[in-house]
Amino acid sequence: RSNAEKFEFQAEVSRLMDIIINSLYSNKDIFLRELISNASDALDKIRFLSLTDKEILGEGDNTKLEIQIKLDKEKKILSIRDRGIGMTKEDLVKNLGTIAKSGTSAFVEKMQTSGDLNLIGQFGVGFYSVYLVADYVEVISKHNDDKQYVWESKADGAFAISEDTWNEPLGRGTEIKIHLKEEAGEYVEEFKLKELVKRYSEFINFPIYIWGSKEVDVEVPADEDESSEEEESTESTSKEEGEDEDAEKDEDEEKKPKTKTVKETTYEWELLNDVKAIWLRNPKEVTEEEYTKFYHSLAKDFSDDKPLAWSHFTAEGDVEFKAVLYVPPKAPQDLYESYYNSNKSNLKLYVRRVFISDEFDELLPKYLSFLSGLVDSDTLPLNVSREMLQQHSSLKTIKKKLIRKALDMIRKLAEEDPDESTDKEKKETSSDIEEKRGQYTKFWNAFGKSIKLGIIEDATNRNRLAKLLRFETTKSEGKLTSLDQYISRMKAGQKDIFYITGTSKEQLENSPFLERLKKKNFEVIFFTDPVDEYLMQYLMDYEDKKFQNVSKEGLKLGKDSKDKELKESFKDLTKWWKNSLSNDNVDDVKISNRLDNTPCVVVTSKFGWSANMERIMQSQTL
Ligand code: ADP
Ligand code: MG
Repeated sequence: RSNAEKFEFQAEVSRLMDIIINSLYSNKDIFLRELISNASDALDKIRFLSLTDKEILGEGDNTKLEIQIKLDKEKKILSIRDRGIGMTKEDLVKNLGTIAKSGTSAFVEKMQTSGDLNLIGQFGVGFYSVYLVADYVEVISKHNDDKQYVWESKADGAFAISEDTWNEPLGRGTEIKIHLKEEAGEYVEEFKLKELVKRYSEFINFPIYIWGSKEVDVEVPADEDESSEEEESTESTSKEEGEDEDAEKDEDEEKKPKTKTVKETTYEWELLNDVKAIWLRNPKEVTEEEYTKFYHSLAKDFSDDKPLAWSHFTAEGDVEFKAVLYVPPKAPQDLYESYYNSNKSNLKLYVRRVFISDEFDELLPKYLSFLSGLVDSDTLPLNVSREMLQQHSSLKTIKKKLIRKALDMIRKLAEEDPDESTDKEKKETSSDIEEKRGQYTKFWNAFGKSIKLGIIEDATNRNRLAKLLRFETTKSEGKLTSLDQYISRMKAGQKDIFYITGTSKEQLENSPFLERLKKKNFEVIFFTDPVDEYLMQYLMDYEDKKFQNVSKEGLKLGKDSKDKELKESFKDLTKWWKNSLSNDNVDDVKISNRLDNTPCVVVTSKFGWSANMERIMQSQTL
């Protein structure tokens, strides 16, 4: 085209497209859900802007916030069109090719090892999946602030953009014209597309239509022989029955045009989805399968994994909202790597059914950012900017309730897991409980660190979070146990909860600090995660029991009548010893009751760093 301007794809994008277009990945279907998801995002954007600017939607067909699918069987073209926000020329250049999203190279690497394209949407490059089925794609787009443009590419390292002077004006929005590869012919089959939309795009909140064919009965003029026969037979019946003269006349009139019925194909827009939002429905009427599928579409996680837990509830009172929260089946790889510098939230905020944002970190504390879900509030105002909304006083209340519900959901996950139960009877169970076996351990392995970070960050919910802690102990026999279980096993007269910190259970098990405790049959918790040291600076007590690090000063294992006597008789030795070591090396030398076989041990002072903490700090400064 004469007015086309040529561009090169950014190298990373080009590499991704190469992989996609040559991919042997069998599940090519995924491109459709990615394109529909983009159309839906574009519609969300224009609807959001229209809240504060009514004019923006325009008039007539432009106000219809919907998605349309059209097929051209002969030319093998599939078109997906939306009346969303559209793209300016600049948007087309930036969004579709010259700027690689931050996840692009990570995804390319993943692709090369696993070949699994299913998670493409999570990496922010879903659009390019269209090249699984296309060898040529045109993106026609019209944004309110610009003219209509066509972006086109054959995935050969370059794309072109031209002002659109030949297609029909879109009004506003985007149409993706997919020129299907030879082997992707099935995607112009109506039934195939209907099935895919049903399967993958069930929870899109805008109507999706297909330009569908339909066999209809039409009356056409009949040829003469047939019609005379027909006439005879009907006439005879009507005579037999017709006593009323008027009735007879009417029937006569109906019969006059000589017609017959034939099948004909017509086309019309056929609605493919039910846009009733799942979160507005009664939780009792939503099936497990629907919750699972909704999770997949929310999280763009299209693996077969079921979320570990969910909670669907309505909050009433001053601040009203509905919410669905999910514990994902597994943690994303970078969950803790980017913990302190990312605001990535997986929670979508809606106000009165209108999507507002999924980058609203005011709704959940950082330590719960691993949850996925959705909040729809009737209390928040609709016609204000995002910035104003972020200041709104209701947000605090919503956040408080969400945290409470989230922690409840996690507590329940533990309660329902038969492996977690100490009750023997509960361990032998029916199959529906059997399904929950091991779920909490799965949760703990994936997100346990978040619970610990929560204890550090969230003083208000510290006790609730502490209930969710799991760890191994000198008595847990390789299994995980909880503080409640620890307390239930405490010896009569034991006041403190004993723990020890280190790099691994194996290392700690032989620690001289445990000698006496083991002999006296006290249980000691192993804290082996680096974060545990920090955790224990915040978690001072639980259910009125203090935590005691057994490698620190102050360990009391019950009274011993000989204590005083021993202290007295070894006074000279301890004094001599302390003086022989310089003051920089030790604070004090004392008679200990914590050892059994080992003659002496170096202990940390009550408020000092434990040896393990010293080690952690050292490794961090290196
Ligand atoms: P993501 O949707 O995760 O941002 P994609 O690769 O699917 O990543 O899309 C890239 C970008 O292209 C989108 O962020 C959006 O800006 C733009 N885009 C894609 N499809 C459309 C569309 N139908 N309407 C408007 N913009 C679109
Ligand atoms: Mg997308």
